[in-house]
Order: sequence, then structure tokens, then C-alpha cells
Amino acid sequence: MPFDRYNRDIDYLRISLTDACNLRCVYCMPEQMTFRPRDELLSDAELHRLIGIFASVGFRKIRFTGGEPTLRAGLVDLVSHAAQTPGIETIGLTTNGILLEGLAAPLRAAGLRSVNISLDTLDPEKFRRITRWGKLDRVLAGLDAAAGAGLRVKLNAVVSRGTNDREDVIALARYTLEQPWQVRFIEQMPFGNNAVFQHKSIVAEEELRAVLAEAYGPLELVNHGRLDGEARLYRIAGAAGCIGFISPVSKPFCADCNRLRLTAEGVLRLCLLRDNEIDLRPLLRNGADDEALATRIREAVYDKPWGHGLGEQVIPARGMSEIGG
Ligand code: SAM
Ligand code: SF4
Repeated sequence: MPFDRYNRDIDYLRISLTDACNLRCVYCMPEQMTFRPRDELLSDAELHRLIGIFASVGFRKIRFTGGEPTLRAGLVDLVSHAAQTPGIETIGLTTNGILLEGLAAPLRAAGLRSVNISLDTLDPEKFRRITRWGKLDRVLAGLDAAAGAGLRVKLNAVVSRGTNDREDVIALARYTLEQPWQVRFIEQMPFGNNAVFQHKSIVAEEELRAVLAEAYGPLELVNHGRLDGEARLYRIAGAAGCIGFISPVSKPFCADCNRLRLTAEGVLRLCLLRDNEIDLRPLLRNGADDEALATRIREAVYDKPWGHGLGEQVIPARGMSEIGG
């Protein structure tokens, strides 16, 4: 098991498959973006090799993300390869859902078990505004296909005051009445390229719970408040699914952090919100053997910083789409 210097068991790797995206969510990236050329990204073969090495070091969970991971041509094969890697027990995918309709069944057959779909509103016009041009019906078709294929579904909504902090939260939470899904509300975080971030746009989870309680009655705490990943879970009385709150700014969960992140060009990021990084690509491309890479990964785990520094105005230079959420 890989433990860091604070005795946290780090066994979860989020892999960004591309920095490119087919949307431009206002809190994630500017409208004019230049993406990396294909040869700067890790190849499928390099990713296969790295996943094997991470598994040998003790990593058990992989999540593919981006940018938009469904833009990566080899996604289904990458999932299949990861699912067959000894030691890897869980594979997840985080997607905007736009291309999911045609991919959900092949991904399920390849070994994917769960999918996180980002969806901030059920209002088509507002969805278009937030994503700058996205079509909500594509995401809803992807969501149907995912549920129909037997994937466990989590919905992730980034909540911003004045944009989607009331009716949209109530409408999204309604899914949990009938569906065994988790609908999770996420605080917006500041990144270097995120000009729209403002502290006052963060909506505290207490406030969202009050909005939901007004609509559905008091929420019941699930799991005695123990975090599920990074989410604190609640349930509307009698509901099939859960409502989660992910509050990295107002209620940091750094003590429970169990993950590293790999950018699409092979940089290992030790904390989402700090710029401590280790570039694995030179090792990969200059002939390092598996043991040398494994040693570098173990050192990286050990050096993982304790927590973010948002309170001291430490803002990451890279954007969320480059790091992979
Ligand atoms: N494109 C995919 C998607 O949107 O799900 C995967 C990558 S995206 C960077 C991963 C997650 O990060 C999404 O749920 C997105 O809403 C979230 N995200 C992006 N920018 C954010 C920000 N500034 N604060 C909080 N979450 C953010
Ligand atoms: Fe693309 Fe996801 Fe960022 Fe939206 S949040 S711009 S879908 S990477």
C-alpha cells in the first residue's frame, strides 16, 4: 500500500486523457483555448505501461477524466486494459456526457462500472450559457444510455450563486426520489485561468440543504456523516438515491485525500490545488525501466502535500481542464 508522509493511503489515480474539450464551461476554461498537440500527450501504450506500474505500487482505483475523456479515440480500449490490469479494482469516468449516448454500452462491456456526469442545470438555455454552446438534450441522452447500460450514475453540479443555486438544485435533486443515483453539489474552486471565480459566488452546503429542505422536507444524514470519497451524503426521506455535498473551499477534506492526478502529457500532480508536480514523461521517453518509474511514483506519494492553501490565497496556475477534475 502506498502511504504518504502523513500516513494517508494513496491508492487512487485520476488520469486526464486529453486537455481538449467539446464545451467551454465558464468556470473551467476561457472560450479561446489552445490545446496541446497530440504527440505531447501520453500514447495509449505509455498509459497502459503506467497503469501497470501504478497498480504494482499499490494503486487500486483509476478514474479517466480530462478535458473531455470521451474525445480520446482509444477510450474504450483504455478502460478495457485498465479493467484487466491485476490490482486495479475500480474504474470510473468523469464526463460532460455529450458523447456518452453511443459510448455507454461499449464502456460498460469494457469493464466500466460507474460514471460521473457533469450537469449543472436542467434548463436548456442556462445549460447553453454555462457551457457556452452545449446542448442539454445530448447530455440527457447520455445519462439515459448510462443508466440503461447498467452503469452506476453520479451527477456533479458546480453551484454558483445567482446562476444555479435554487431552482436548478431542487430540480437536479428530484432525480434522487426515483433513481438510485448520487446527485452531488460542488463548490466552485479558483484556478489560474478562471477569470469568473469570485469567493462570493460560493454557496455553502448549509444554505443548499435549507433550500432542499424547504422543497422536500428535512434531509437525513447518510453513513453518520462519513465522507463518501469527497462527498458528505444526505437523503430525502424515502428517496432511492442520495444527495452529496463536495465543499473543498468551505469544508476541506484534505485529511481524507487518497489521490494523485496524472495530466494528459504525463505530469503527476500531487494535489489538485497546489502546483507540486513531477514530470513522468521524460522518464517514460528516455528509457527508464519499470522499477525506476515505480520508485519515482513512491517518492511522489510520500511527498504529497498535506492540503490546499486556498485560505492563504494559494491558487493553482494550471486550469482544471488541464489537471483533470
Ligand atoms: N469534461 C469532464 C466533465 O466536465 O465532467 C471532465 C473534466 S472536468 C475538469 C471535471 C469536473 O471538474 C467537472 O465536474 C467540472 O464541473 C468540474 N470543474 C471544472 N472547473 C471547476 C471549478 N472551477 N470549480 C469546481 N469544479 C470545477
Ligand atoms: Fe470541458 Fe469539463 Fe471543463 Fe466543462 S468542466 S469545459 S466539460 S473540461
